[in-house]
Amino acid sequence: MRFRQTLIPTLRDDPSDAETASHRFMVRAGLIRQLASGIYTYLPLGFRVLRNVERIVREEMEKAGAVELLLPALHPAELWQESGRWDVYGDELMRLKDRNDRPFALGATHEEAITALVRDEVKSYKKLPLTLYQIQTKFRDERRPRYGLLRGREFIMKDAYSFDASQEGLDRSYTRMYDAYSAIFRRCGLSFRAIEADSGAIGGTDTHEFMALADIGEDTIVHCAHCHYAANLELAECTDNGNAHTDKATMTDDESVRQGTPSASGSRQIVETPDVKTIAQLTRFLGIGADRIVKSIALLADGLPVVALVRGDRELNETKVRRLLGATTTELMTEQHIAEKLGSVPGYIGPVGLPDHVAVIADEEIRGMRQVTVGANASDRHLVGVDPERDFRVSHYGDLRTASPGDRCARCGGELRFDKGIEVGHVFKLGTKYSEAMRATYLDDTGKSRPYIMGCYGIGVSRLLSAIVEQHHDEAGIVWPTEITPYRVHLIVVQNKDPVQKELAESLYDGLRKTGCEVLYDDRDDRPGAKFADADLLGLPLRVTVGKRASEGIVECKRRNESESFELEAERLPDFVR
Ligand code: ATP
Ligand code: MG
Ligand code: MG
Ligand code: MG
Repeated sequence: MRFRQTLIPTLRDDPSDAETASHRFMVRAGLIRQLASGIYTYLPLGFRVLRNVERIVREEMEKAGAVELLLPALHPAELWQESGRWDVYGDELMRLKDRNDRPFALGATHEEAITALVRDEVKSYKKLPLTLYQIQTKFRDERRPRYGLLRGREFIMKDAYSFDASQEGLDRSYTRMYDAYSAIFRRCGLSFRAIEADSGAIGGTDTHEFMALADIGEDTIVHCAHCHYAANLELAECTDNGNAHTDKATMTDDESVRQGTPSASGSRQIVETPDVKTIAQLTRFLGIGADRIVKSIALLADGLPVVALVRGDRELNETKVRRLLGATTTELMTEQHIAEKLGSVPGYIGPVGLPDHVAVIADEEIRGMRQVTVGANASDRHLVGVDPERDFRVSHYGDLRTASPGDRCARCGGELRFDKGIEVGHVFKLGTKYSEAMRATYLDDTGKSRPYIMGCYGIGVSRLLSAIVEQHHDEAGIVWPTEITPYRVHLIVVQNKDPVQKELAESLYDGLRKTGCEVLYDDRDDRPGAKFADADLLGLPLRVTVGKRASEGIVECKRRNESESFELEAERLPDFVR
């Protein structure tokens, strides 16, 4: 491609709104341009990179036996009402109406759409297992779109869905996807870690996130240096969308830092009492989001029912608490409810013997419930669950904002490491959550009707571009991994007006292209310095310069990831780059 013929609007200076290296370089190198917050155009160079990532994704998906299709981006509201997510997905779902005032949503994810399709088209066990995938634009009205393609409101996702007739079948489908994801991220040149995410209230234990390691990552990965157990420590800011895999991703897996194991006996209840510590007060006290606190309470409950006391004047309204805690394991009560149901309003008895724990609740009047006190440790900002019938500590996990360096792995006692990561992929065993809600069934070999056992698997295709650049750059610009680079050779002619240089450059351009090598040919009249700076910024693996020694048939070569250049006879170039 000739530079003059294409559109690569490079910038000398950093854009003022770009906080991360990947965002800066992707704008400066002319890969992307913002149309509105979290909404981007892929310019020709960025589009080539995107296509390369998509090619890798497609190849590995096909190898894993997944089949591509394309679902609609515009969904009728009824579809989302069927699964129940129309009401719980929250503000992240982009909603609109057609000319007849019928409600629609722009697809934020496609569990509903695919389940509806398979429900109609696959009726027998003989058609299973089946894994379908698509690469498509998703819409999520993110609260904080940022870092270029990293968190967009319109972004490109690869999403796959598996349908199986048995749990073992799901296990196999899941493992195949897990392995395919590892291969994809390796080929993208990423340093990444597959970590356990919490399965939350949806049921099922298996869900993994694939994290590209990067300081700008929004998730915290806790990793045991000894047994290599890894989990998502960070309770990410809540996305409020009721999306199965999102729910899980944003919940902390606290296994690795849990100090004690709660007894599973009895119906343990955690009651949060606004008279003592409202979630809003805890928020101020701990300096972390209310969402995290509510989720932490759910984790402390360890799958047992949670009673949350909700007050009308609180930042958290009932729906939100219910959404956060998971409707299935949560009983929500207002003070009045509690009064009616239990005959009293909970009172305050803490602080419960732990001097620097700000206590929460315990009320003997709530009969029939075992209670766990949820408190916040003032000195180290831990959230702690306390069960009065035991040695007083139920769960205890690392600082919810920043990890506690002193913590040790609960599995092996090994030292824990904490890294920041970008969630580039997420695999998730859904089970029958959607098939049951949407009555999507097949007939088994005895003629009995059963819900499909499903898995869902997402990759942030556009986010991957940012993650790759974040890991592959230096102070001058991008350094593309070989499978991702938009072109392999950056050909520069130093003096465009020098006929000898021009002729050699033109012939090299033609010759390389004939051998199938993708070349970006800088045929502009600009100063050589500007062309070299652009070559560093664009980051193609090999720069070939036709300059002073053109008359001797010699060119200068420089690899982007090396500092030294070397000379080469021009006629050897096609073989050299092969
Ligand atoms: P996050 O925790 O970053 O909000 P998520 O858990 O909500 O992501 P999933 O629902 O698991 O995302 O979607 C699958 C994949 O899509 C994610 O692993 C991520 O790579 C990508 N993704 C999610 N939201 C965005 C976004 N706003 N912009 C770009 N990519 C995204
Ligand atoms: Mg999200
Ligand atoms: Mg996720
Ligand atoms: Mg997530």
